[in-house]
Amino acid sequence: MCVEESVTTEFWNDLVPKIRAAAADQAERRQQFLADLIRIRSYTGQEKQAVLRTMEELLAVGCDEVWMDSAGNALGRIGSGAHVILYDAHLDTNEVADESEWRHDPLEPVVENGAMWGLGASDCKGGVAAIVYAAAIVKALRLEADFTLLVMGATLEEDAEGFALRSLVERDGVNLEVVLLAEATDLSLRRGHRGRCELRVRTTGRAAHASQPELGESALLKMLPVIHAVESMNPELPNDPIFGRDTQVVTLIQGPHTPNSVPSWCEVAVDRRMAPGQSTDDVLDGIRKVVSPLGATVRIPDQPVTSHTGSRLDGPGFFPGWLLDPAHPLVEAGKTTGSALWGRPPEVGVWRFSTDGTYSAGSAGIPTLGFGPQEEKFVHTPDDQVDLTKLEKAAAFYALFPLVYSGQT
Ligand SMILES: [Zn+2]
Repeated sequence: MCVEESVTTEFWNDLVPKIRAAAADQAERRQQFLADLIRIRSYTGQEKQAVLRTMEELLAVGCDEVWMDSAGNALGRIGSGAHVILYDAHLDTNEVADESEWRHDPLEPVVENGAMWGLGASDCKGGVAAIVYAAAIVKALRLEADFTLLVMGATLEEDAEGFALRSLVERDGVNLEVVLLAEATDLSLRRGHRGRCELRVRTTGRAAHASQPELGESALLKMLPVIHAVESMNPELPNDPIFGRDTQVVTLIQGPHTPNSVPSWCEVAVDRRMAPGQSTDDVLDGIRKVVSPLGATVRIPDQPVTSHTGSRLDGPGFFPGWLLDPAHPLVEAGKTTGSALWGRPPEVGVWRFSTDGTYSAGSAGIPTLGFGPQEEKFVHTPDDQVDLTKLEKAAAFYALFPLVYSGQT
C-alpha cells in the first residue's frame, strides 16, 4: 500500500506546510546548536564533550529518553511504536592537516553566503543538527505514530566506521528495523557504497649487521617485487556494473627500526576498495595467489579501537560494501517524503566513500539509506561548510520521513 492510499491528500496538504514552518521557526536554535558543535574539537575517540552537548540538545527538544550507550554514542528516543528507525550522524571529525589552508579558524563557526563554515560542518555535524532538530519538529507538531525514532550522535566513524553502531546493536541489544545515515548527499538519496579492507602483506628475511650484509637476507628487497605485483593486480580486480572496478593501493611500508641492520622483516599496508558481496576470504585468496609465490604472507589485521568511555571495540579491518534494492520500501519512503516536500522525488545514487552503513547494511543486513544536507565536495577540505537552507530542508525531510515510512509499511 502506498502512502497516497493510506492517508488523505488533505492530510498531507495540511501537514507539509506546518513542517516547513516549524523547520523555519527553529532555524536560529538549530544553527546555534550546530555552531556549538563546531566549537567543540571532537577527533575520533575524543568525542565526549560533543556527545554531552548533543545529549543536552536532545533533552531540550523533548525526546522521551536520552542516554549515552556503551560505545559513548549520544542517543535520543521518541515514541515506542513497532517500526524502529535509527537516524545516524557522527560527531567525530577528520583532523585538520594544515590550519593555514583554512580561510577561517576551523573551530570558530562563521556564516557566509548562506552557509555555516567550520570543521565537521559537512562531515557530519550538519547532519547531527538536522536530525536533532527533526526530533524537535516531531515533538512540536506531535507527529508520533507507529514508530520509535532513535536519533544518534555517533562516535568513532572517521577511523572505524560501523564499530560504534555495531556496539549499539550487538552489545546493547538495540533492534533496528531501518537506518538513515545523515552523511553528505546534497539532499539526494544514497543506497549503497563500496567496502574497504585493510590488509598487511609481509616478507621475512634474516637479520645481520649492516657492516656484513652478505650474512643476512633483506626482507625489504624481497618486498619490492611483492609491491609491484600487488599494484599490478588492479586491471584484473573484480568489476561491478554500479561501483566499477575494485581498486587496491600500497599505502604504508614498515620494518625494524634499526638502520644498522639488514631488515629481517618488512610489512606493507594495502588499502582495498571493493564492491558489495565480497568476503574476507575472497579478498585474501586473490592477493595470496599473487604474493605467495614471491614468499610473502597476507592477513587482515585487527584494528584497535577505544571509545571515549574506555570501551575496547577492536575488530577486523574489513568494512563490507552494500547496496539496497532501489524498490525497497525504505527507498520508496525517501522518494515519497521528498516528493511531498519539494514536488519531485530526490535522485537516488551511491556514495564513493564508506560510512556506518558498512555495519548496518554490510554486516548486519539492516536496510540502510543515506540522505543529508551536506555536499560531498566540502567533506575533509578547508572549505568545510553546510548550506543553511539545505540544513532546514533536511530537518523537514527527517521530520516527515518516519510518518511516511511507518505509514507505508
Ligand atoms: Zn562522515
